[in-house]
Amino acid sequence: MNNHSIWEDFQSAENFPSPKIKKQLETDILIIGGGITGISTAYFLMDSPLKVTIIDKSYIGKGITCKTTAKLNYLQGTIYQDIEKSFSTKTSKCYFDSQRESIDLIKNIIEKENIHCDLEKCNSFIFTKENQGITKINKEKQLLESWGVKCNVVNQLPIHFPIKYGLEVQDTYTFHPLKYINELRIKVQEKVKIYEQTIALEITKEKNIFKVKTNDGIITAKYVIVACHYPFFIKPGFIPIKTYIKREYVNSSKFKLDSKPFTAISIDTNLHSIRFYKNYIIYGSNQHRLTNKIDYKKNYQQSSNDFKRLFSKEPEYTWMNQDIISNDNLPIIGIMHKKEPNLLIATAFNAWGMTNGTIAAKILSDIIMKKPNSYIKLFDPQRITTTGIIQSIIGAIHYSKAYIQTTIKKNPTFYNEHVYIMKINGKYYGIYFDYSGKKHIVEHKCPHMMCNLVFNDKEKTWDCPCHGSRFDIEGNIIEGPANYSIKVTD
Ligand SMILES: Cc1cc2nc3c(=O)[nH]c(=O)nc-3n(C[C@H](O)[C@H](O)[C@H](O)COP(=O)(O)OP(=O)(O)OC[C@H]3O[C@@H](n4cnc5c(N)ncnc54)[C@H](O)[C@@H]3O)c2cc1C
Repeated sequence: MNNHSIWEDFQSAENFPSPKIKKQLETDILIIGGGITGISTAYFLMDSPLKVTIIDKSYIGKGITCKTTAKLNYLQGTIYQDIEKSFSTKTSKCYFDSQRESIDLIKNIIEKENIHCDLEKCNSFIFTKENQGITKINKEKQLLESWGVKCNVVNQLPIHFPIKYGLEVQDTYTFHPLKYINELRIKVQEKVKIYEQTIALEITKEKNIFKVKTNDGIITAKYVIVACHYPFFIKPGFIPIKTYIKREYVNSSKFKLDSKPFTAISIDTNLHSIRFYKNYIIYGSNQHRLTNKIDYKKNYQQSSNDFKRLFSKEPEYTWMNQDIISNDNLPIIGIMHKKEPNLLIATAFNAWGMTNGTIAAKILSDIIMKKPNSYIKLFDPQRITTTGIIQSIIGAIHYSKAYIQTTIKKNPTFYNEHVYIMKINGKYYGIYFDYSGKKHIVEHKCPHMMCNLVFNDKEKTWDCPCHGSRFDIEGNIIEGPANYSIKVTD
């Protein structure tokens, strides 16, 4: 099935009534976005004396969260040595603590609220297929052992999957993300107002009160929490400068597993990610910087070919997902700017948003409730680091490359004969002729930061190669940061 994750077979959001905002709504705390981050934040705040509201432009849990692989893992590639390099061993240990604490938070919520979400304890591996990877795995082992983690060196995985060297740890988990979010929502909506298909378009401020313009009316709030994955605005925060996007392709089919379920992830440039759900294997591969591989049909093809070659099976589910990667290896969570103490953000989870989205929810709720939290400084959105600056410059080169490539080569060879980019009265338009010959025309610039769009021939969408916004062939937004459509009105 095309871009439909295994989790989406579980219908959740569609079962709930969706009220509409009538012109104006007043709240104390407005959470923009109802993925794992937004809904968990509402959960931690719902017993406070403050009035909490969530809006989501789509449905609760139907953003990036419904296409994750949902490992609850503190073994995250070579993250600890990467953070040590950008910051210090102390900072790296603090991040490790945050991930362990987040797994405990999720486990406690599941137990307390009696949530049925197929939580399963398993062992996890990182591995390399290359000689150069061995030193990195040993370094990660050394850090983890110094923090008391029991590590096992391995030369093979429990399934037939060739590796050179690996590391195994215990006390990691997997779950079903939509079942978790769904039950959390049921709990939260006893006290929190939820408005779906409500898109935040602009945030302004008058006399210390935020005014959030939506497609349905204005919401006024004392606090605004931006939990919409990628903020739709540039200032404050300058998130596009501090981050970049990685896209990954996931395939899944039935699989006979002769060992206990486990999770595994490679540390090499070529990503391989493995987990199991019931009698299915879920395999992620072909990860790339969004700006770098813009022939989306080919990318899909490559990932499903890898799956067939490795597991001798046709994928039953194939989907694509993208996450925000921070330039300095740490997520961005907290107060956006010192001049705006009531505007909070949680983003750039580096493809570990189950744990980071949950710890973010705890941090943001503690900031608002003025409670101490050991991780406020760690994830401070206002930090400036040398690694961050260097990676911003590298990022700018990548963005420029994508921009130039899509400007010069308007009609690349990988488009089929049904797609054209044309200049009409001085403005560029994307034109797609469907199989019945019907013409669909959209504006060719992404409204977020004016990057040129690329046609995704596999999913029949217009995708932004810079910051990941996506639009259907009529120009409606499927995915942000853009919050305006590219429809042609006249
Ligand atoms: C292939 C892949 C595999 C992954 N696997 C794992 C894993 O195994 N473990 C792990 O920990 N992490 C994993 N991640 C990362 C994780 O899935 C994400 O970091 C996490 O789901 C992000 O959650 P979120 O709540 O921030 O965003 P989302 O789930 O996207 O939620 C944001 C919500 O905001 C809404 N929204 C957006 N804009 C607006 C607006 N303007 N107004 C109103 N609403 C808006 C959206 O509709 C959406 O519902 C993976 C990521 C990828 C790409």
